[in-house]
Amino acid sequence: MQIDLKKLTIETTHESLKKGDFTVRELVDAYLAVISEKNTDINAYLEIYEDIDVQVREAEARFKEGTATLLTGIPIAVKDNILIEGKKVTAASKILSGYTGTYTATAIKNLQKHAVVFLGRTNMDEFAMGSSTETSAYGLTRNPIDRERVPGGSSGGSAAALAMDGALIALGSETCGSIRQPAAFCGLVGMKPTYGAVSRYGLIAMGSSLDQIGSFGKTVRDTEIMHEALASYDPMDSTSVPLEKRSLTADSKKLKANRIGVPRSFLSGVDPVVMENFNRSLEKLSGAGYEIVDLSLPILKYSLAVYYIIMPAESSTNLARFDGIRYGYSHPGKNLLETYMKSRGEGFGREVRRRILLGTYVLSHGYYDAYYNKAIKVREEITRAMKEAFDSVDYIVTPTTPTPPFRLGEKLADPVAMYLSDVFSAPANLSGCPAIAIPSGTTHEGLPLSLQITAPWWREDTLFLLGKAFEKLV
Ligand code: GLN
Repeated sequence: MQIDLKKLTIETTHESLKKGDFTVRELVDAYLAVISEKNTDINAYLEIYEDIDVQVREAEARFKEGTATLLTGIPIAVKDNILIEGKKVTAASKILSGYTGTYTATAIKNLQKHAVVFLGRTNMDEFAMGSSTETSAYGLTRNPIDRERVPGGSSGGSAAALAMDGALIALGSETCGSIRQPAAFCGLVGMKPTYGAVSRYGLIAMGSSLDQIGSFGKTVRDTEIMHEALASYDPMDSTSVPLEKRSLTADSKKLKANRIGVPRSFLSGVDPVVMENFNRSLEKLSGAGYEIVDLSLPILKYSLAVYYIIMPAESSTNLARFDGIRYGYSHPGKNLLETYMKSRGEGFGREVRRRILLGTYVLSHGYYDAYYNKAIKVREEITRAMKEAFDSVDYIVTPTTPTPPFRLGEKLADPVAMYLSDVFSAPANLSGCPAIAIPSGTTHEGLPLSLQITAPWWREDTLFLLGKAFEKLV
């Protein structure tokens, strides 16, 4: 039978698998057929895993035994910075070429319990640094909706895999918008959980105090099902929050949350097409009975600047381990120092080297107080201001991105222009709040537009609630 992949959600797929409309084998084969047709051009996947047959058999056995869950047999794409024991993982960097994961990430283990089917690893900006998936050492990824445009980044391969119908769900990671922004550019839902909800164990670190794994789906409900499976307490991640502490701030009586805050002053400089779409989204929400409130939050305008101090500081520290000796690529020199310099100089791409330089600069003696320490203080102020805002509203909404998807090459030569595409992403990563990007319509040319909803810490429940309600209004 011909499976209409475009329409599949986790729940409808589960029903079909249970009823026997199609088998896991047939489902996976349908995705593999699309991948072999489209991937050469789109370059969403860097590798299709060799053990798919084994995974398919395990999933089919669960259906036979009657122990299948909603996620059993669901084909999932994995961003190339999440470790699976015995499988290659490169963070799209030359420096990790030939490297194989020595253990499995907790997020992956949580999904393996359900016998999902991991199809392969997806392209990304090198070490998750970028907003266009053009900085990969393994070639750029194209946006399946318009192949002359970028899919967003850094999880652009995962977004493109889903948007080309090469997977039903995709895993991504966020340090500053790397799920939400590509979701926006590819017409998908993308969700970043509260910091500490999903274990970072086995995620190649970028900015450790900002990083979170999350997922892409075609519907809010799909990302909700994924979140329920991914979120867990993990003693292997020192920033994982124990389950009993997660509900302390979540007041479940507030489930009818209906006050939406809009930080108007933060939205200057937004493309008029995006702004018009955003205002229409607000009208729809207000028409559906939500109360729209203006928020001032002037401090949010510093978010991106703060991010570009804290993230390089943490990344430069995290990347110090790639020395040409312990992992992947190596160019032996006459002595140890030369080995380091040659391996790192050749193994890291331009953008990664730029951030290592920035990071070591802001952490250096003499500049530490002026940059890093100050950024830490402003980050605390941003978090405090968001907390205060959430005393009077249940959600904060903005457009997900200031522009529709841009053209390949358009921003590559201008790093600041590239960085600005995450201007609305930064507050959620800096503060740790959960946030979701949801398709909100298209431009006249058919390019996707997106609404971003942010909720207070641990209020994924209300985030999904408003998300599902908004989805129906679009
Ligand atoms: N655009 C952000 C950056 O380049 C994306 C980071 C991320 O979320 N991984 O830093």
